[in-house]
Amino acid sequence: MLTYEQARRTVINQVEKARGPRASVNLSVWDALGFVLAEEIKTDREYPPFDRSTRDGYAVRAAEFAPVARLRCVAEIKAGDTVTQPLTPRTCAQIMTGAAVPPGADAVVMIEQTSREGDSVRFERAAQPGQNIVPRGSEAKRGETILSTGMRLGYAELALAAQVGATQLRCASKPRVAILSTGDEVVLIDQQPGAFQIRNSNSVSLAAQVRLAGGEPVLLGNAADRVDDLRDKITRALREDILVLSGGVSMGKYDLVEAVLKDLGAQFFFDAVAIRPGRPAVFGKCGETFVFGLPGNPVSTMVTFELFVGPAIDLLSGAPARDLPLVEARLAEALNEKPGLTHFLPARVAWRNATPEVKALPWQGSGDIAALARANCFLVVAADRGQVNVGETMPILLRKDII
Ligand code: AMP
Ligand code: MG
Repeated sequence: MLTYEQARRTVINQVEKARGPRASVNLSVWDALGFVLAEEIKTDREYPPFDRSTRDGYAVRAAEFAPVARLRCVAEIKAGDTVTQPLTPRTCAQIMTGAAVPPGADAVVMIEQTSREGDSVRFERAAQPGQNIVPRGSEAKRGETILSTGMRLGYAELALAAQVGATQLRCASKPRVAILSTGDEVVLIDQQPGAFQIRNSNSVSLAAQVRLAGGEPVLLGNAADRVDDLRDKITRALREDILVLSGGVSMGKYDLVEAVLKDLGAQFFFDAVAIRPGRPAVFGKCGETFVFGLPGNPVSTMVTFELFVGPAIDLLSGAPARDLPLVEARLAEALNEKPGLTHFLPARVAWRNATPEVKALPWQGSGDIAALARANCFLVVAADRGQVNVGETMPILLRKDII
């Protein structure tokens, strides 16, 4: 049985091997959050476009300080002012943050380090050439590539595009991810379940996880635990880039997903992973579609999605696979888990003076969505680490949707 790291590696290798060029869409910079760039963005001019003051103060010539100075203030420069007049010897110019430093000046002295009487300004200490100035072109040259193909667009990337006037961005189309739940007991979420039925919450968590991962969910509802229904709905799903199924992959008599996929010609790369919850997770390819059969217990579905489906969506979005958001945390309560499988336990992390401290939450196993809704991370208990004492460090997997 593969470890979860080996299983992730398998997903990454298979998807990397198969992915071809992706369709792209033109999006306004206002709408491109979470997309992956499919072009290079170059600067339209130098950045900053002029020698920029980083302080409110006075533009001076550092060489005129010996080390103190008294200079006559002959000008006031605010951000946005056109600055062409050179600073004449033995003078200074009052300057604001973001304004252009006049030719001839080579330093800006913070206003806090000066005193002024009329137009005479007294400087208390020496000025160093270059201080409080960002030189023209030091952030980027003109025509330099500042955003490249494959970069994920977050708020800083979008601001950078906007800064250089790239208001339309060519982005990779999001991979389409079919979501199909299975199970005779499953009813629509807006339906009143019978005493022994359950609402289809997995399709809701999966759609949210697909969106957060950068994919476009395609909801295909629920298939009954019958070969014909599974076959029809899976066949429909094979138009999409990825199919994520929930349920029907365990050892029960009505767990038919693998058999139906096999019958449709699927090739499997793994059909179990050494984790709890989530051990029966299946990954394969059917035609051109990557297929994930995730166990149906809600927390198993959520964990296995984060571990295995995420990297496939990353790669099919035209980006590199992101690493898991694992962090070392100090254990606040001792742990005693059965060794043999890597456990992912709902847990709560809090930062005490920048040190993460974590506690596993009580839970009733992989059906307990309420426990996960109280958690903000998973405690990752390695297969060979059943007993862990207070104060030891353990890896945690952050729930980056809420942290
Ligand atoms: P399975 O993996 O098909 O054996 O399903 C295991 C359990 O997960 C079922 O008994 C249900 O309690 C639960 N389950 C299955 N499908 C769903 C679903 N779509 N939404 C919520 N819970 C589900
Ligand atoms: Mg089932």
